[in-house]
Amino acid sequence: MRIISDLHTHTKYSHGTGTPRENVLRALELGIKKIAVSEHAGGNIYFGVRGKKLERLKAELRSLKKEFEGKIEVKTGLECNITGFGKSDIPKDRSEYDVIILGFHKGIFPHNRFGFHILSESFGGKSTPRRNAECIMAAAEAGKADIISHPNLYLAVDIPYMAECARQLGILLEVNSARVTLSKEQLQTIAKSGAGLIIGSDAHSADRVGDFELALNACREAGVLDKVVNIEL
Ligand SMILES: [Zn+2]
Ligand SMILES: [Zn+2]
Repeated sequence: MRIISDLHTHTKYSHGTGTPRENVLRALELGIKKIAVSEHAGGNIYFGVRGKKLERLKAELRSLKKEFEGKIEVKTGLECNITGFGKSDIPKDRSEYDVIILGFHKGIFPHNRFGFHILSESFGGKSTPRRNAECIMAAAEAGKADIISHPNLYLAVDIPYMAECARQLGILLEVNSARVTLSKEQLQTIAKSGAGLIIGSDAHSADRVGDFELALNACREAGVLDKVVNIEL
């Protein structure tokens, strides 16, 4: 088994500990072909990277791309936040980003009149797994997200519905390797739907880049390893 890419890693620009360079070096050491630094987008009150800091991060990634050309592909990612029903902080201009990840997180600047965004309450007070999944997939479609990170984390979602939308839109569903948020049955449902799965380390330190162990075990147990797009069996 070989890891093709790890597109979900963080650094000290948000609340991680390593630098982008350290993440790249660790990925190179592991023989990974593609590594993205996908920092938390600005909508996150606590960890969001915005303004001049975000510009510095993008510049650093641009120079790492050049420095490591021919050795490993360095990608500029962003892990964006759901900010309301069908809404997110995915940037309008996506041209500077290679990978857009979208996930539900706590501590988000709200886009609506409900005040601070506390879990599902700002979705209109009618939170059900189906409605939560509709909220996330509408935002993913509007912002043209590539990956949904950690489905079910903090907010239960209707997996059959999410998988069908993901398949139609060509969006990958993440098997997060920091904590697996999908049950064996849910992984099998996604695999059967025809939607793609992608493993992300969600590393917040360089030593966890490419650490796919938990996710690989879950996928192996569910018999869905062949649906994971970023590993070679
Ligand atoms: Zn996340
Ligand atoms: Zn993350």
